Amino acid sequence: MESAAVAAREILTGLHDVMAARGNAQSKLDRVVDIIGEALNSEVCSIYLLRDGALELCATRGLNESAVHVTRLGLGEGLVGTIAQNVETLNLDEAAAHPAFLYKPETGEESFHSFAGVPIVRSENAVGVVSVQHADPRRYDDVEIEALQTVAMVLSELIANAEMIDDLALGGAFDESTAILSGQPLVSGMASGQAIFHQPHVRVEHVMAQDIEAERQRVYSAFDKMREQIDDMARQADFGVGTEHEEILETYKMFAYDEGWSRRINAAIDSGLTAEAAIERVQQRTRMRMRQIDDPLLADRMHDLEDLSNRLLRIVSGQMGTAAQLGLKKDSILIARNLGPAELLEYDKRRLRGVILEEGSLTAHVTIVARAMGIPVLGRVADIRHRVRDGDILLLNVDEKSVIARPQPTALELFESELEDRLRKKARFAELRDEEAITRDGQKIELLINAGLRDDVSALSLAGADGVGLFRTEFQFLISATLPQRERQQRFYREIMDAAGEKPVIFRTVDVGGDKALPYLKNQPLREENPALGWRALRLALDQEGLMKAQARALLEAAAGRTLNVMFPMVSQHWEFDQAKAIFDAQIAYLTGRKRQLPTRIRYGVMLEVPALAETLDLVLPKIDFISIGTNDLTQFLFAADRSDPRLADRYDWLSPEIYRFIRRVIDNCGTQDIDITVCGEMGGRALEALGLIGAGVRRLSITPAAIGSIKAMVRSVDLSRLQSQMEAMLAKPPADLRAELSQWANAEGVETG
Ligand code: PEP
Ligand code: MG
Repeated sequence: MESAAVAAREILTGLHDVMAARGNAQSKLDRVVDIIGEALNSEVCSIYLLRDGALELCATRGLNESAVHVTRLGLGEGLVGTIAQNVETLNLDEAAAHPAFLYKPETGEESFHSFAGVPIVRSENAVGVVSVQHADPRRYDDVEIEALQTVAMVLSELIANAEMIDDLALGGAFDESTAILSGQPLVSGMASGQAIFHQPHVRVEHVMAQDIEAERQRVYSAFDKMREQIDDMARQADFGVGTEHEEILETYKMFAYDEGWSRRINAAIDSGLTAEAAIERVQQRTRMRMRQIDDPLLADRMHDLEDLSNRLLRIVSGQMGTAAQLGLKKDSILIARNLGPAELLEYDKRRLRGVILEEGSLTAHVTIVARAMGIPVLGRVADIRHRVRDGDILLLNVDEKSVIARPQPTALELFESELEDRLRKKARFAELRDEEAITRDGQKIELLINAGLRDDVSALSLAGADGVGLFRTEFQFLISATLPQRERQQRFYREIMDAAGEKPVIFRTVDVGGDKALPYLKNQPLREENPALGWRALRLALDQEGLMKAQARALLEAAAGRTLNVMFPMVSQHWEFDQAKAIFDAQIAYLTGRKRQLPTRIRYGVMLEVPALAETLDLVLPKIDFISIGTNDLTQFLFAADRSDPRLADRYDWLSPEIYRFIRRVIDNCGTQDIDITVCGEMGGRALEALGLIGAGVRRLSITPAAIGSIKAMVRSVDLSRLQSQMEAMLAKPPADLRAELSQWANAEGVETG
């Protein structure tokens, strides 16, 4: 045979004629096996199709005719069943030597030794198998296998169009089977809805090319565009989320410029496929090859190549939008490898019920945004994009660390009753709405909420919280396509204060950079080795003075006639506070000069999230009214562990002596000064962690609104003096497992921790 392309093209032309001709499905299949057999010079060619859950011999040239529609093999049964189950190609010189070989006497196949079979794939599942056999024990060449794979691809279209497989099979072999996948809880909650992919899978409509040269050109320009996109990403610091992006980019680049990949796609086009079909065929083939390699590193690379291959498919087919741009039509659960916070905010909050990520970590900003939106998130669910398809019904239970795809009716019932239980619990917490968070021995704990979106503020009264302890102003910047103008900011801040009424709101000045990149910001660094330690938060705001000036004026004007609470993020050295305050002072002077009304009082505070600040707290304390301990960043800096790196997500427990001792020392250092000390990191919203914080001396927690009820219930069930002596003992001599010990103590004391 000259080349795979020639053989495949010969077959494709033949197939095209068969399909264009009149005749029933069976006669067409019979012709197809003849054409393939002849072109590959093979004594046997057979087609098995998935019907009623088994692979049925539907056409053959070379095996006994009487076996057609009689021989059936289950998934995983015999060579054909193995090919379909594993969606993999087999190429054997001695079929009988393979452990899965199963002899079916009615076929008369005993006289054939060599065997090659290729799955017929639709939506990534095998719906049939096309096989060739030969009397001589010989291995089929790579080119022959490739020709067979191309044929299988075309067959999958033809078979589907001719309705030769049942509907069930059309959707894929595992359509009816339930899959249970597990992951890491990121935002607690339960949700049901249909699966929707952030980047939808492109459906290949046409397989056979009309004009090969035109298809080649389409692929060339798609490659150019994709390379441009990748190079652009490399120039921007804001690509993706987390520290992995550099590595991913390198791999993307490697593949994008890989000659071998584009050559294989071109060869597939030569054989008569459209650009889309060629890309998909090569993708399938790579997937099959990689599956045979048992190496997790390579599997990761595979993932990247798939991503890139999908990108190429989207470019070539013009199906570019994310699911957010296409709009959610029903209650949906979003599936993505990872997401940026801004990408999540693009989704319609009314229909987005949950998020499932293949990566993700507890304190990545996308997780925080989801928490603020009240959307449950399950992270680190391996391989979800291959086990679930668009439109599948999903039951997401983050607290059980699981998601069930395509559930059975009983699972659905169970899920609903659990959901009811949860609602009852919620209702019980709601009853506490107007109660204060006071310990059994009379200590008031202030419970505030973390907010960032306009709607969040309504949670203040719904949850019965004491105020907004952290308003992340950068969310407004993140959801905007351009830098929000001062007037817009001012209106927004005023609305927030109006909505909060008498309750205080602490506005944190923009905390962007790191994993919260603003694409429209000028002077972005080209690339940061460690974005979490990089040009972010107050550092960036002090350098880009215009940004901070506009925000300062907007805040001062919005708070005219009332108290303004301002907090600066990531203060590392005491003079940074002075510089930030000077920007406010200048704006106050400006407004005073124009006889504009000012806030009646301005309270300044700092976030303590960089450990260095704890060492010079004495210099800052006289100038401020409050401190907020941001344990999300503090933890990453204390442990030197990137908060958005999924590999480190489980490594350091918040409930650890290092963190609690640190916080207690900060409280001690504030001594008797009249300073509000709040913990505003995510850990304060978890009952056991919050219990520990209160035991270590924290009296104010700013947490996600959804957690107010459960934390209030916890506070009201604890005796503070007993808790304090317990924590003191445990911090003086930390047990091996602080979490287990504290949990045991809480149970024995009847403290409500969940
Ligand atoms: C923190 O770091 O703990 C914090 C509350 O701020 P953010 O999560 O927005 O960085
Ligand atoms: Mg922070």
